Amino acid sequence: MKRRRFLQWAGGMAIAVSSPWRAIAQPDENPVDVYDRLKQALDLHFVIAGGNISIAIDGNPSTLDKNRIEAWVRRSATAIAAYFGRFSVEQWGLLVTLNDGERIGPATTWGHPTSITHVALGRNISDSALHHDWIMVHEMTHLALPTVPQSSKWFMEGNATYVEPIARAQVGQLTPQEVWRWAVEDMPKGQPRDGDEGLDHTHTWGRTYWGGAMYWLLAEIAIYKNSQGRYRLQDALRAINRKSGGNTSFWSVNQTIHIGDNAVRGDALASLYKRLKDRPVTIDLQGALQQLGISETDGVIRFDDNAPLANLRRSITTMEAPT
Ligand SMILES: [Zn+2]
Repeated sequence: MKRRRFLQWAGGMAIAVSSPWRAIAQPDENPVDVYDRLKQALDLHFVIAGGNISIAIDGNPSTLDKNRIEAWVRRSATAIAAYFGRFSVEQWGLLVTLNDGERIGPATTWGHPTSITHVALGRNISDSALHHDWIMVHEMTHLALPTVPQSSKWFMEGNATYVEPIARAQVGQLTPQEVWRWAVEDMPKGQPRDGDEGLDHTHTWGRTYWGGAMYWLLAEIAIYKNSQGRYRLQDALRAINRKSGGNTSFWSVNQTIHIGDNAVRGDALASLYKRLKDRPVTIDLQGALQQLGISETDGVIRFDDNAPLANLRRSITTMEAPT
């Protein structure tokens, strides 16, 4: 699934977007209607990994629709729970609006006053597409972190972009090759271009999603190196999740990374933020991937187990801590 086609809402109009698009949004949707709908009759309710999940489905769902939606949400929640050690939040409301298409999205997540997500789902989607979906895991990753100011949207979008494939790989839903292909092929889109003023001031699609994802990849490497292999980024993110309680909290970026850095006894998150937030910094992505032992030859992702950070690379896509 290298190239993806989704609908994106822009100014109230749906436009087709064709790109390897890892995140979609409905900037104009008013969440009040979604909150109201979730106060009415619910179609599904279950608890998974400490998360109370309540689901409302609009569009006359059949029993089959309900069963498919429940399986989809459970599968995605399993990946998130593996990564964060529990479901991202204690209470989550999901509104699924069925249509006659065969795609997933747009999807949007809000945190105020409670954690909710609205996703559109084509009832004719194939079992395979639903099974291999990444959008639900992306939205569930948003639930896990506090909401930060909109000027640092890259911090949240980059995090969901970085964590989503890794969480799925940790429970065997993706291969490590699939995870790292996204870094090799898509992360270069996050490098600064002419006129860039740093991550906090350049709100382009590439910088928000892929520039943000590179921040988290560099943080992963720095945390591992600074702790002599004792910690992964996952440890910092779990601490942020526990202390904040997820996206119902409004935190500054500095407050968030302070908690993360404390958990891994370092300053990787803070020093990277300082370096990247106000300046265009071209990342040595090739060098980072080489250290991890990741390369692409003739379209095939290859791993070098003798690379200096090969242990970290193996550890990232497994549930075990690094050795
Ligand atoms: Zn997102």
